[in-house]
Amino acid sequence: MRAAPLSLHTADSKFRLPVRRTPEDLDALILDLLARSNRPISAYDISHRSMDVGRPVVPNQVYRTLARLIERGLVHRVESLSAYMLRQQSFDGCMICDQCHTVQLLSNPEVISGLEDCAQRLGFAIQRTVVELHGHCRDCEANIRATGDHEAALALPTVSSSPIVGV
Ligand SMILES: [Zn+2]
Repeated sequence: MRAAPLSLHTADSKFRLPVRRTPEDLDALILDLLARSNRPISAYDISHRSMDVGRPVVPNQVYRTLARLIERGLVHRVESLSAYMLRQQSFDGCMICDQCHTVQLLSNPEVISGLEDCAQRLGFAIQRTVVELHGHCRDCEANIRATGDHEAALALPTVSSSPIVGV
């Protein structure tokens, strides 16, 4: 049996000092908050969500923790959104839906090697490569097309006796 560490506050939990969280605790909390989100979230969102679960983390701590998790390859920063997501696999780029904000991962090493070849030909020394495509995911594009067609149909004049002629 291990002896509990002696403390002036162990006798009465009312007087116990707030628990100091270790970097491992913070890592686990932030990874959990990211895992609960189905889209990338900002450091401030992470801080707000930590309050919601009763384990508040101030933004500075969030940033420090995220930096550590990025370095360990566990978290990815989506640059164009200034937001973070779990990195569960390696990928070459992200496709970001501007409608529903989901991110699909793009795996195509030829994209990166094509950019590297291009840069090398121009004498450009790459320090960092970020491939992020913005647009609409398949579902949102289908909805937009359906809605767009519907609105376009409503916007058309109901009676037109002369054909539209290009000028
Ligand atoms: Zn979408």
